[in-house]
Amino acid sequence: MSIIFYGQETVAKIYYEAFEKAVKYLRKNLLDYDHGRYTLYIYDSNENMVKGLTKFSNMNIEYASFFINGACAAPINNKFHISHHSSFSTIAHEITHEYLKMYMGGGSLKLSWMNEGFAQYFDYNFCRDNNKYKNEYISMKQSIPRHFSLYKNNYIPLESISSGRQWVYEYDNGNRGLIYNETLITVLYLINKFGLKKIKGLYQDIQLSKNPPDEVFKKELGLTMNDIYNQVKKLNEKDVTKLL
Ligand SMILES: [Zn+2]
Repeated sequence: MSIIFYGQETVAKIYYEAFEKAVKYLRKNLLDYDHGRYTLYIYDSNENMVKGLTKFSNMNIEYASFFINGACAAPINNKFHISHHSSFSTIAHEITHEYLKMYMGGGSLKLSWMNEGFAQYFDYNFCRDNNKYKNEYISMKQSIPRHFSLYKNNYIPLESISSGRQWVYEYDNGNRGLIYNETLITVLYLINKFGLKKIKGLYQDIQLSKNPPDEVFKKELGLTMNDIYNQVKKLNEKDVTKLL
């Protein structure tokens, strides 16, 4: 592991520690896989992170500018760019994507909503299970049910947030908070109903199967994506609190 930082060393250390803890957590709870050596770039501002993305990861400026509000970009060839505005759950979230990809045998997950929901499930649990990130856990635990009540009438059918293109469209068109809330609660609901082991298996089967995802859902859970969507929309704020 190497670390390059711009700004305060003490702050950089806090992020470095969160990164190491998140990797350890994922190796224990999802897949014991060694991704090799990472380089962490830790920046004192989002502006400098955008510059770093172009300089060290050759990202074109237009794409890099997208991260001006993002605080942290998914690792690119083991280079992980993080700004001082990033939350610890976001760091865990981005690393979860890496591990989930390997867990499913490489490639990107067919269903964006499942991918994002699972990354959030892990980033939430990571904060819950690490005393150091308790404040972030408490604030998520309080805000998620409230956001559910705010968004649920406008939740988007899962078929419409399945492709990467559809996901980015909703993200860019004012539904960022909604889609993250919806997909986390959908994954929590499925894990609560069917158990983590079954849902982890489902992730692998969806990826490996030659059949359309909805057929795999129907075969393994007895539900289509639309059934799941409708069941989640029937929950109330109290039900959601219990899922957390
Ligand atoms: Zn994500």
